Amino acid sequence: MIPYILYGLVNLAVFILYGVDKSKAKRGKWRIPERTLLIAAVFGVIGALLGMLFFHHKTKKAKFSLGVPAILVIEVVIFLLAGCGPKQEAVPVETTTVTQESTVTVTESEAQAETTRETSSEEIPEETSEARTIDPLTMYVLDVGQGDAILFTCGGQAMLVDGGSSHSSDIIYATLKELGITKIDLMISTHPHDDHVGGLSGAFYVTDVKTVWSPVTEYEGYGFQNLLGNIDRFGAKLVVPAVGDTFVLGSATVEVLGPIAEEEEDLNDLSIVVRITHGANAFLLTGDATVNEEAQILALGVDVRANVLKAGHHGSEHSSSEAFLAAVQPEIVIASCGAYNDHGHPMDAFLNRIKAIGARLYRTDLQGRIMVISDGETIRCETEKNPDADTFQTYHELYAVRETGEDDEHPEENETRDYVLNTKSMKFHLPDCKYVGEIYEGHKQEFHGTREDLLSQGYTPCGNCKP
Ligand SMILES: [Zn+2]
Ligand SMILES: [Zn+2]
Repeated sequence: MIPYILYGLVNLAVFILYGVDKSKAKRGKWRIPERTLLIAAVFGVIGALLGMLFFHHKTKKAKFSLGVPAILVIEVVIFLLAGCGPKQEAVPVETTTVTQESTVTVTESEAQAETTRETSSEEIPEETSEARTIDPLTMYVLDVGQGDAILFTCGGQAMLVDGGSSHSSDIIYATLKELGITKIDLMISTHPHDDHVGGLSGAFYVTDVKTVWSPVTEYEGYGFQNLLGNIDRFGAKLVVPAVGDTFVLGSATVEVLGPIAEEEEDLNDLSIVVRITHGANAFLLTGDATVNEEAQILALGVDVRANVLKAGHHGSEHSSSEAFLAAVQPEIVIASCGAYNDHGHPMDAFLNRIKAIGARLYRTDLQGRIMVISDGETIRCETEKNPDADTFQTYHELYAVRETGEDDEHPEENETRDYVLNTKSMKFHLPDCKYVGEIYEGHKQEFHGTREDLLSQGYTPCGNCKP
């Protein structure tokens, strides 16, 4: 009897160790089961040897020959249990923990643990996904004026990348309702500038937002504070993703390529950059990343190739460098920008670089909402309006103030009145101009004085309100 009791105790130790390992498995990679198996094997063999020694010591040789095969059979059972256990049990355990937790501010290590957990829980279906048919993916670049809001749907799941400025909240709400989306599996706030984060609040009131990725957990801006409030109120999970993190969205995989730096003078260069692969197709979204972050990503040497590129920073000339475009090799480039925007987006240099690589360009300011549909092999585009618009028309051609030479449009140059200035783009507006709402708070300034004063300070009149 003693050898069997001893044997049982040793194997109990194996299971305790295995249990400890399983809790570690939530954080670690799937190397763990192999290690568990090894530990089980070592302890099992020690248990068997000890058992046999005792057996040999206490009994005659005749009985010893019976004990060996009996122990070996038990050994095999133990090995099988140790080997199969983690894969079968870990999945339900992990999916329940994910829904239980809701944190507003997470530390970086927690954030990483959270994302790896999601990743690892999705790995098992992925292994067997080859036999499955691929779900179509649709990318909607919403028309939110000057700003970004991009929605992806695939296999019943949805991802929203940015939401435009605060006054686009209604557009986000209406679009999600129109498309019948009730759950946002992943929301990405690429960076906390208001033209990206402001409208995200609309999504919380019509869908169940599960996880929110943001490059920072603190930022004083109104839109970001609003986002934090909604994450708290609606029980979403805020995660700071790390480069290399992945998220499975139906048949597509979202991978984080940036930001690489932890701090940047220009917040745009902390933009979360994601590459979405869907069968043979890939999509690249770069937020407002400038050439600086693009260069950092290129230096990593990761695969950035994409059929579809959401151009960085609304088609600014400070983004979409030649080197970056050469690496991405996009067939389709989409610029999300507003008519008469204060920044002159998309800029001439950007348009020329896109033209030079022979890519097709789509623009929300000219074509409204843009839809890109992928079946995993082919891609097609649909626009809300003007499918055949000349998207390489310059900002100046489309929106610049016409120099009529008729001074009577502004007969009272010396009349003092209220204006609103954009100190970055150096444009001035009438206070009721619809584009005043799109000016980033940090660049907005009220001014009382004459038109002449402003012109002499280097300001130019808005092309919309023509002050
Ligand atoms: Zn922006
Ligand atoms: Zn920005």
